[in-house]
Amino acid sequence: MIQAKAYAAPAADAPLVPVVIPRREPTARDVRIEILFCGVCHSDLHTARNEWSGVWPTVYPCVPGHEIVGRVTGIGASVTKHKVGDLVGVGCLVDSDHECPQCRADKEQFCSNATFTYNAPDKHGTAPVTYGGYSESIVVDERFVLRIPSNLDLAGVAPLLCAGITTYSPLHRGQKEGLVGPGKKVGIVGLGGLGHMGVKFARAMGAHVVVFTTSEKKRTDALRLGAHEVVVSRNPGEMEKHAGSFHFILDCVAAEHDLNAYIQLLGVQGNLTLVGAPEKPLPLGVFGLLFGAKSVSGSLIGGIAETQEMLDFCGKHGITADVEIIPIQKINDAYERMIRSDVKYRFSIDMASLKG
Ligand code: NAP
Ligand code: ZN
Repeated sequence: MIQAKAYAAPAADAPLVPVVIPRREPTARDVRIEILFCGVCHSDLHTARNEWSGVWPTVYPCVPGHEIVGRVTGIGASVTKHKVGDLVGVGCLVDSDHECPQCRADKEQFCSNATFTYNAPDKHGTAPVTYGGYSESIVVDERFVLRIPSNLDLAGVAPLLCAGITTYSPLHRGQKEGLVGPGKKVGIVGLGGLGHMGVKFARAMGAHVVVFTTSEKKRTDALRLGAHEVVVSRNPGEMEKHAGSFHFILDCVAAEHDLNAYIQLLGVQGNLTLVGAPEKPLPLGVFGLLFGAKSVSGSLIGGIAETQEMLDFCGKHGITADVEIIPIQKINDAYERMIRSDVKYRFSIDMASLKG
């Protein structure tokens, strides 16, 4: 067993603190990674504070972090995809059964035996649950380790492993369904970590992009990030102007909000895809869907092949997240700022700070 420095939440109502956690010795298929940067996802906060207790209760201590970028420091005897010294990424998944129909369709995120990067039963028995990327190292099956394009800034690459794939996947699906692309009007709701990546991808896919934000002060940034228009969603007059006009809307909001306001903005057969995962259920007015045969969908990260495709797309288009680099010691402050929507636009933890 390897001992690794990390930060963990000891309980739902306690701040994260330094801890030492076990990591397994690499087995034949494993890659050992020194973590360089780890993005801070709102899911880390939801989990650390047990906000999803109804669907996915948190086991403590909890080491969050599923936006991992690092360097390979060791490989098992059968590893062929990666070698020592490679720059690699790990996202929300570290294992699956590789046999079920979902795995065979490259949708490992829906495998009923998938292992998520943190707060999932640890099949190797190293600890009761998996521990995530707020740590100096991690050991992962090579099939869940991604290649990082060499032209991208690493601190900004880390968030691609969750915020990137979570927004790329539904937008790419929208592209295949003819709802996203040139001549199509695409809305992105909530300019946070996911939202700002959604703006970059929708723009790169050629759509007309409209950002919906509750933060008046994010207007200029939204345009800089690639939006053609910005709507402050708290202003009913601004919302009204867009009624019935959208092909596709991606909702990236982490808290309670009114879905029906966005359904009204969809055109006939338009689609609202939810990726945000608020703690409480959101009321849905059915009539808003009936008139116009509109649809509401959900989307969960993406499979491993699609995550690699997204990273390669980012390499080709020079896309990374806009990050504020923080030392791990600032993680509790970062969580408070995330709750206040005060993130521009993703915190990326410089893991060198853990060594001090
Ligand atoms: P984030 O950085 O905190 O961004 C969320 C944004 O939502 C905020 O910046 C804010 O944007 C908006 N917002 C916050 N409170 C709001 C409210 N009360 N009403 C309306 N808008 C509000 O969070 P994130 O990391 O992007 O994650 C967003 C959500 O997606 C979280 O629930 C997370 O757990 C979930 N998630 C889902 C998946 C998946 O696979 N489906 C993957 C990762 C994360 P404005 O200031 O622009 O209004
Ligand atoms: Zn995430």
